[in-house]
Amino acid sequence: MTSARFLVVLDADSTLIRNEVIELIADEAGRREEVQAATEAAMRGEVDFAASLRSRVAALQGVPVSRFSRVLDRIEPTPGVHRLTEAVHARGGVVGVVSGGFHEILDHIAPDLGVDRWRANRLAVVDEALSGHVEGDIVDAAAKASALQEWADELGVRRNATIAIGDGANDLQMMAVAGLGLAFNAKPAVRAAASLVIGPQDLSEVIPLLP
Ligand SMILES: [Mg+2]
Repeated sequence: MTSARFLVVLDADSTLIRNEVIELIADEAGRREEVQAATEAAMRGEVDFAASLRSRVAALQGVPVSRFSRVLDRIEPTPGVHRLTEAVHARGGVVGVVSGGFHEILDHIAPDLGVDRWRANRLAVVDEALSGHVEGDIVDAAAKASALQEWADELGVRRNATIAIGDGANDLQMMAVAGLGLAFNAKPAVRAAASLVIGPQDLSEVIPLLP
């Protein structure tokens, strides 16, 4: 596809899906508690996202990649996600997902959920197990905003025909550059900065707002 009428970009964890994937992987490492606390602090915007992600990923060291199938089995798509992506496509729009989470999981779930393009972090693997490092540049708040701008330019979509949807502090920059920034199921700092707050955990609530 070379052009689109509009672009909708969603965050993944707690927006496209109901889970925080890093917490599911941490379960496989037996380190849920510490990773969950650190993730919550990062989503409230209390700590530097990239530094926090690096230390949380370090806690995942040694998890065999074969355990990803157990993680995938536990993922719950957010209610209404299929209806939203179908509605976007029916109106000539494109759906993107940009995530501070991981390609290793999104690559499996995004196509089935009607997502057209996605960008996320990559977990480094050594001997079929997580090395505890992130590969390459970290997808943080600034990278999320750049992805939205880059995709809009590629698709010939004007900035005011973009919608960004997220729940965490690392979604605020992409919400600020989008024509419409929607706080979904969001933390207080995100609700305060959003153009609009979507209360119920149902993505089909976004459909009436599509151009
Ligand atoms: Mg999120």
